[in-house]
Amino acid sequence: MNTGAVLANLRQAVGAAHVLTHEDPSTDLSRWERDWRGRAHGRALAVVSPGSTAEVAAVIQACAAHGVSVVPQGGNTGLVVGSVPDDSGRQVLLSTTRLNRVRELDAANRTLTVEAGCVLQTVQDTARDAGFLFPLSLAAQGSCTIGGNLATNAGGTQVLRYGNTRDLCLGLEVVTAQGQIWNGLSGLRKDNTGYDLRHLMIGSEGTLGIITAATLKLFEQPAAQMTAWASVPSLPAALDLLGLAQSRLGAGLTGFEVMGQFALSLVDQHFPQLRVPAWRNTPFAVLLELSDTESVEHAQAQLEQVLGQALDEGCVSDAIVANNLTQAQGFWHVRESISSAQAAEGLNIKHDISLPISRIPTFCDRAGDRLAHAVPGVRIVNFGHLGDGNLHYNVQAPVGQDPQRFLLEQEAAINAVVFDEVRAHGGSISAEHGIGSLKAHTLPEHKDPTALDWMHRIKAALDPDNRLNPGRVLPIQAR
Ligand SMILES: Cc1cc2nc3c(=O)[nH]c(=O)nc-3n(C[C@H](O)[C@H](O)[C@H](O)COP(=O)(O)OP(=O)(O)OC[C@H]3O[C@@H](n4cnc5c(N)ncnc54)[C@H](O)[C@@H]3O)c2cc1C
Repeated sequence: MNTGAVLANLRQAVGAAHVLTHEDPSTDLSRWERDWRGRAHGRALAVVSPGSTAEVAAVIQACAAHGVSVVPQGGNTGLVVGSVPDDSGRQVLLSTTRLNRVRELDAANRTLTVEAGCVLQTVQDTARDAGFLFPLSLAAQGSCTIGGNLATNAGGTQVLRYGNTRDLCLGLEVVTAQGQIWNGLSGLRKDNTGYDLRHLMIGSEGTLGIITAATLKLFEQPAAQMTAWASVPSLPAALDLLGLAQSRLGAGLTGFEVMGQFALSLVDQHFPQLRVPAWRNTPFAVLLELSDTESVEHAQAQLEQVLGQALDEGCVSDAIVANNLTQAQGFWHVRESISSAQAAEGLNIKHDISLPISRIPTFCDRAGDRLAHAVPGVRIVNFGHLGDGNLHYNVQAPVGQDPQRFLLEQEAAINAVVFDEVRAHGGSISAEHGIGSLKAHTLPEHKDPTALDWMHRIKAALDPDNRLNPGRVLPIQAR
């Protein structure tokens, strides 16, 4: 590779100010080269920030001409090591942060077209300022980008009612591995004109194309939102509460999160200012959110009725309905701080799994027993989006053990137990975070062989030179 020629072409494509390299010793590239969890620290040939779709296409063409591979990156909040370069110093990191324009809000069509580097919170705020709701919601929303959300088909806390990011997207604009631009920015809700390329791109984690813009669905703002915190005596009781809330609240139930006691204790320990409600006396707590089309009073009455019945039936031992927005935000803040509290406790072995909801309690019993037997003293940080069957079933080192060493020595054995139980219970090894490079080598063991064969053929057809994010999703290394 002629590095000088590659860099000259990249500077020509986006302007010298938007090509950062290690050539300049005063430039620190580590924020782009290190992943959010601190599991990988690569070295980029250059960090390139195009400011338009045409510039993205020019970058890809320059990389194609020189045989250089490209790693797309949005907010770099991904949890499976998919958005950072490897350590070869030969990959270009394409940052989408300058693709941050809101292109169009079509109120009558209930759609919003934004560029890929728009931060999720900006998208939510833009929708809200126009009187609408963009419901995708996750703890990283102040940093993650809509392009990253689409590339990972992010889930979050509202999937129960609104679906994954895939369900919120009507159209895409994509730059291909050859540097062509596909304009699929349709705001159509019906379009049966052959293969649905949008759905191929969504969830492809930057391995099939670079998403540069998207047309998103907007929804009505609810008249009122009500949040409650419920202590539940067991996981089966949490499922009973879920069934009751679904049957009584229907589509109004927009959030149903479960949090195990140890997860809450970590928040209490690392962020004592958050005041975790009554966690000491209960093995699990549930956060319920009701979105109501009528009024605050109606929402409150509905939620109180459900919780009253749940208390009578014994699936809830204690409950608080937030009596103002600050208290509701406080409850959500506790839930959203679990990941950061775990990070503060030290490196841990993360599992983002999904299971048929009915099988979650037996999964937790069996996996918990097997892990306790395999690694005595192991601590399980169990929390997640119970309403859609997604658990973050993370494993923290026993007290007093070095987390780094624990990760190195135990990760393979612990993953084997967890994934074995996931398979036995009909689940998936990745619910919402994706595969990245962390799980690329595990995927073949868990994916249907025909599906895996199709995935390889699709990759080979769209990106025959393995230019885009090599080694992610499918373990094919860069040439
Ligand atoms: C505290 C915390 C909480 C989280 N909670 C959730 C949660 O509830 N639900 C959930 O699903 N995830 C969650 N995540 C994971 C993460 O926020 C999501 O995966 C998010 O969608 C990533 O967006 P990003 O812009 O940061 O993407 P990045 O991390 O930059 O990239 C992620 C992947 O997408 C690719 N990519 C990024 N932009 C593009 C593009 N424009 N075109 C093509 N490929 C691209 C990258 O190459 C990489 O493979 C959480 C993360 C943190 C740190």
